[in-house]
Amino acid sequence: MNADLTSLRSEFPLLAAAPQLHYLDSAATAQIHRAALDAVVRHETNRRANVMRGTYALAEAADLAFDQARQTVARFLNAAAPDEIVFTSGATASLNLVAQAFGNTLRAGDRVLISVAEHHSNFVPWQMLRERTGIELALIPVTADGELDLAHLPELMGSNCRLVAVTQCSNVTGAWTDVAAIVTAARKVGARVLLDGAQAVQHGPQDVRALGVDFYAFSGHKCFGSGGVGVLYGRSELLAAMPPFLGGGGMIGEVTFADTTWAAPPQRFEAGTPPIAQAIGLAAALDWMMTLDWAQIHAHEQQLCGLLIEGLQRIPQLRLLGPAAAASRAPIVSFDIEGLHPHDICQVLDSRNLALRGGHHCAQPLLAALGVEACTRASIALYNDEADIRALLDGLAEVRRTLT
Ligand code: PMP
Repeated sequence: MNADLTSLRSEFPLLAAAPQLHYLDSAATAQIHRAALDAVVRHETNRRANVMRGTYALAEAADLAFDQARQTVARFLNAAAPDEIVFTSGATASLNLVAQAFGNTLRAGDRVLISVAEHHSNFVPWQMLRERTGIELALIPVTADGELDLAHLPELMGSNCRLVAVTQCSNVTGAWTDVAAIVTAARKVGARVLLDGAQAVQHGPQDVRALGVDFYAFSGHKCFGSGGVGVLYGRSELLAAMPPFLGGGGMIGEVTFADTTWAAPPQRFEAGTPPIAQAIGLAAALDWMMTLDWAQIHAHEQQLCGLLIEGLQRIPQLRLLGPAAAASRAPIVSFDIEGLHPHDICQVLDSRNLALRGGHHCAQPLLAALGVEACTRASIALYNDEADIRALLDGLAEVRRTLT
């Protein structure tokens, strides 16, 4: 590990307390950074009050901290304004919010284009919308490597496509999506683009304006912050044109028995008490992320990913899913070992303090396209090192000894 990165592990309380643990499941949940945890504790200890309701000093301090958290997220995403940031409970809630609120502006016969590689969170809400409104749902296929096959994008969009909703990076194969190609094609037919950034955010700050997307969704727990909080970025003119999804406190202009008017975004989409401390914790994690040298971290993650892929390729009967080149993927590596169930593999690995996830990874359509029912996934984050990769490769040798 590069000299400057060796101390990173000690900045994560759980990893610092468990030196024997090889945590290789950051695609499911990244460990929380000390700055995020401290910010949550500080807030709950000193400023705990509801937001946008109280007029006393404590409530105003909570309001200020919550506003600042929104500003930090806007900076992390390079959004044009903090009002383009909606706090939700997670990426799943953000994606459902678009499917419900933007979805309510669609009509039967309008098309939504998603891909085979989507996490169920960006698959099922669109099926539900199809059921409710009669929209057409179309699928971008994947190549044998699990990358989005964009060869027939214009035909898949047709002339009635209103939204393309795709993942920025697969949670199974780590394959990055060619977002620029999708945005260019979408603009030609006037379609909007929703990017599921759940797997991208832990690999560095994002720039929604450079990406050219209209909506962007992610979760706090995948980028070193608290659980229970997520973000939906939406271009301000689009949010302003969308009806609310949930009704309740905080999202109204005025309520009478006859009628209710809506607050402006982002409050229109934040009915009820938002995840205040979690948003503040997330902002602390993002603030910390924005101080890091991401070129160096990417080089580190890619080196580990390359080492892992090389080692896996030497294991007989092991099939690597996704692009073979480490440079074409985020450091997420899934594999199938003929005749062995991923749950059994993960159990043997767990006995050696290796935390990996086995199963369908909430991406059953992708796994079906790749011809497997389940697979084992190792996901690498900035705090991993070569010892983690060596331990995994040794663990897999043990798996083969004990299970075959
Ligand atoms: N999209 C992708 C690509 C994901 O990997 C995940 C989480 N595995 C989600 C969406 C959903 O995130 P959450 O469970 O935090 O809502």
